[in-house]
Amino acid sequence: MNKIETLCLLCSQPLQSAISWKLLLTKQFQPTICDRCLARFEYSSTATALYQYNDAMKDYLHQYKFLQDVALAKVFRQELHARLKHEKATIIPIPMHRLKQRERTFSHMEELLKAANIPFLQLLEKTTIETQSSRNREQRIQAAPLFHLIEGAQVRHKEYLLFDDIKATGTTLRHATEVLLNAGAENVKSFTLING
Ligand SMILES: [Zn+2]
Repeated sequence: MNKIETLCLLCSQPLQSAISWKLLLTKQFQPTICDRCLARFEYSSTATALYQYNDAMKDYLHQYKFLQDVALAKVFRQELHARLKHEKATIIPIPMHRLKQRERTFSHMEELLKAANIPFLQLLEKTTIETQSSRNREQRIQAAPLFHLIEGAQVRHKEYLLFDDIKATGTTLRHATEVLLNAGAENVKSFTLING
């Protein structure tokens, strides 16, 4: 086993992860965080999100997105894999603007899916580097489209599933949905890591 993986990715305490038969038989991935850290996260009661927003999630997002700790993409891989492995729709992670991605060094939504072994497709490109929270409600509603299709992207008449970190106002997902529907998608659903 990789030495890095024997410490909890969140609190750096050693993981008591003797590989049990049960783990081998029922789980695809080794745990990356300790039981104490795991217990701080709260599952979402909705079908369209994995977790509730709470202090543990706030800390996680800060470390993952703003401190650019790409290793943290693995923390939810087991749960994401279990939730999305049988998904029939084509999964599209919500993209970052490419300048922002260069600054962040990785695409946080894509890395979550990669860590969970979930195939995805990218058809969208972010058109603005403004964040949703930097605008007021009125501006958000009337804003120009946040996404357009990647040049040459083929949208088929089928179902797509948008994957974002947090739903919040829903504006991001609504904009992305509109682009896909206008380009011929049959149906667009969404799933978020966190129930905003
Ligand atoms: Zn821990």
